[in-house]
Amino acid sequence: MSIKLEHINYIYNPGDAYERHALKDINLEIPQGQFVGIIGHTGSGKSTLIQHLNGLIKATSGQLYYEGKNIYEADYNMRTLRTQVGLVFQYPEQQLFGRTILKDVMYGPLNLGMSEEEAEKSAVESLELVGISKEYYHLSPMELSGGQKRCVAIAGVLAMQPEILVLDEPAAGLDPETKNEIFELLCRIRKERNNAIVLVSHHMEDVAQFANRVWVMHEGKIAMNGTPEEVYGRVEELEEMHIGIPQITHLTYSLIQEGLPLPRPAINVADAEEMLVRIFKGEKER
Ligand code: ADP
Ligand code: MG
Repeated sequence: MSIKLEHINYIYNPGDAYERHALKDINLEIPQGQFVGIIGHTGSGKSTLIQHLNGLIKATSGQLYYEGKNIYEADYNMRTLRTQVGLVFQYPEQQLFGRTILKDVMYGPLNLGMSEEEAEKSAVESLELVGISKEYYHLSPMELSGGQKRCVAIAGVLAMQPEILVLDEPAAGLDPETKNEIFELLCRIRKERNNAIVLVSHHMEDVAQFANRVWVMHEGKIAMNGTPEEVYGRVEELEEMHIGIPQITHLTYSLIQEGLPLPRPAINVADAEEMLVRIFKGEKER
């Protein structure tokens, strides 16, 4: 599995007063099993970008390759792409509509042509993975808490057995505890299904904790593409882009400015602790 984007441009409402060049010459690659975090200010193009990944939006220009095949070729089977790249929209619970939770999660697989039996099997597996137990299957989705609804919505996408899971701000509007549960769920999904995950989040702490690759979007472009350590080291540039960096990144950055010999700003507290302990141990040994 791999997705490659080459020179992707996207223009909303071309030629009229509302024209908006939302994506500008995007070149990217998502290899197998990666956990990619996309961060950027509101309006930077994150949602527009991820809707390209499953062909929901077609680029104004440029090419997108899925497993080496150009999805914009006339004979490309878009259905394959839609199945293999599972897109979880922002506030996905707003799209729950099944009479029962189980029926809701079975909807996608049935729509893809699975038999009733296969769809149920896939739905049950996905509900188990997201932690919704059997007692709930025959309830209406409306009877669930906000966090549980979101898990059901994610299960609905997982039940289609995608290769890549793409989520737009999956923790938006949830309390901190539920938010952590969602992120733990994503790690579990990645481990159990070996999915690549692409996660849009304006919360850099979360991205630092889970992603092994970070893309920073700014005004429709990819401004940075690197490991969390590389990207979070560029504190001044991130601040210029109005991206709120984690407090610990800011603190360690200030300490470096003051002369503390840290190799780079920390991406999270554990990272800071490790680097600081190393420095102080070194001091003692001298
Ligand atoms: P993000 O998800 O990073 O907040 P979006 O991809 O939603 O950014 O938006 C990128 C740009 O495209 C913004 O300037 C936004 O106003 C514009 N845009 C988004 N959706 C539409 C739309 N349906 N019609 C016109 N412009 C849009
Ligand atoms: Mg968005």
